Amino acid sequence: MTFEGLGIDARLIQATDELGYVNPTAIQEQAIPVLLSGTQDFIGLAQTGTGKTAAFGLPLLHIIDAAAKYPQALVVCPTRELCMQIVKEIELFKKYMSGISVVAVYGGASIGLQIRDLKRGVQIVVATPGRLIDLIERKAINLEQIKYVVLDEADEMLNMGFQDDIEFILKNTPVRESTWLFSATMPAEIRKVSKKYMKDPKEVIVGKVNTANKNIDHQYYVTTAQHRYETLKRIIDFNPGIYGIIFTRTKLDAQEISERLTREGYDIDALHGDLTQGQRDKVMGQFRDKSLQLLIATDVAARGIDVQGITHVINFELPDDVEIYTHRSGRTGRAGMQGICISIVHAKEMYKFKQIERINNSQFHKMDIPSGKDVCRKQFFSFMDKLLSTDISHGDYETYVPMLAEKFADVSKEEVLKRVAAMEFDRFLKYYENSQDLNVRERDRSVREPRGQEAGRGREREMQGIDGGRGDARNKYSRGASGYSRLFVNLGTKDGFFKASFLQFVLDMSDLKKEVLGKIDMKDMNSWIEIEKGSAQQMIRALDGKKYKGRSIRMNDADSGGPAGFSGDRSRRPRKGE
Ligand code: AMP
Repeated sequence: MTFEGLGIDARLIQATDELGYVNPTAIQEQAIPVLLSGTQDFIGLAQTGTGKTAAFGLPLLHIIDAAAKYPQALVVCPTRELCMQIVKEIELFKKYMSGISVVAVYGGASIGLQIRDLKRGVQIVVATPGRLIDLIERKAINLEQIKYVVLDEADEMLNMGFQDDIEFILKNTPVRESTWLFSATMPAEIRKVSKKYMKDPKEVIVGKVNTANKNIDHQYYVTTAQHRYETLKRIIDFNPGIYGIIFTRTKLDAQEISERLTREGYDIDALHGDLTQGQRDKVMGQFRDKSLQLLIATDVAARGIDVQGITHVINFELPDDVEIYTHRSGRTGRAGMQGICISIVHAKEMYKFKQIERINNSQFHKMDIPSGKDVCRKQFFSFMDKLLSTDISHGDYETYVPMLAEKFADVSKEEVLKRVAAMEFDRFLKYYENSQDLNVRERDRSVREPRGQEAGRGREREMQGIDGGRGDARNKYSRGASGYSRLFVNLGTKDGFFKASFLQFVLDMSDLKKEVLGKIDMKDMNSWIEIEKGSAQQMIRALDGKKYKGRSIRMNDADSGGPAGFSGDRSRRPRKGE
């Protein structure tokens, strides 16, 4: 198939030729002929990178009336980065067409300049929802004559809380001739929107459609209401590189927690409805450029926030509404990066997870609240990592090092390390010296909670790969080390496990301590666990034949053939030495 064969304008073909597009991509091949009619509603399920910008950009340029100098097409997308990228591509496609203008309007930039651009008689407006609504309210853009509405990355827009804005746009485009919706996933909310506002859409799927964001690990910590704040602090302290958003239900909570944490030396500020636009922009600017490590926000205030690279979303309290949970967690795990969404809950809230799990098509992993010792150790190793990776290639250290060496002539390396640690960690060590266990532990064995402080101690540090295993027993053992068995289990990352949650799961099931484990090797469908020989049978007994999400777990010694029935439905028998 060629672009000529799809029926697009020769001037567009000249431009795509120049861009080096030889053949249309799958989504282009299926979308362009449909969209060229201008009257057919369309749903394209395609990920970023499949060429979907050209799939809607080329037909839009083809059907726009260059002589009519008012907005005819509206492309709505979730982020300003995407907004700019779409405009850039459309500019390239229309290189040989005259009389068509396209403009990007997005938040965080001067609205005055954007209003001026809109007045120039543009035909295609590419916008983020929040700014678009702002412009409509200021009467700077008129939707009355919009014929084509493109919703790009619709699932992301819903994740970010833009559902109402999108519905508003669809409701207020009275002469809309067609709606083109592109999305990587098809959650129920998008189905609903499409049913309500689209007429008999042609649906095209390219590649595999995800149902949930698999890059987010959903974790929860169970504590009492009175220990919520202290638990939050532990979580923050336990993640020294955290760049996160904490959600509270009320403005007052956001404000109070922010003030309390600031007093205690944390890099945090609050975003809530009482701030002026100027204050809000300032806080967001600091958070965006990472001079603020943490942002605490209410759901309303955080609406539409788009910040790249967020490592953690923390629910100080669970929201009542499942959809809000999805919006909150969707702030992390973006653009292919992994993210963690943590909820601090008390035992009575556990039932809410079932509902969220079902609707979100994701799974929650219970984690132990780290002990004070875990936190100190984590901080300590993080600092030492930083120390070791500090760039010393540029300064004129040679001048000073001999003097320093002389000064430290009688001080051992251990003592220097101790002194550095004391300087850095005095606060942590003192604070956490006699800290209590904040976990609420169930006595009921059937739910297999880890027993006592020991079971949890250090495990999480391990599980999250915190200190890279340094100074830890695990590193001493290599694959197949004597004294260790290697167990095969037919559970893997496809089951929704991350290494951390998987470790917690097998330990909880077997009531073993993490010290008995060696290396864990996880694949999509299967995993291999090194375990001390003396504990191998206990783990096999605890897991083999049990159910996980309705499926039988198979576990056996990977190196000794294993029991009969091993060739489970999804499992592949590992070869020796694998
Ligand atoms: P998108 O999914 O729109 O972000 O596009 C991903 C990348 O593929 C962009 O860099 C496009 O320039 C490029 N691209 C789009 N269509 C084609 C095509 N038919 N042939 C080659 N590259 C393309």
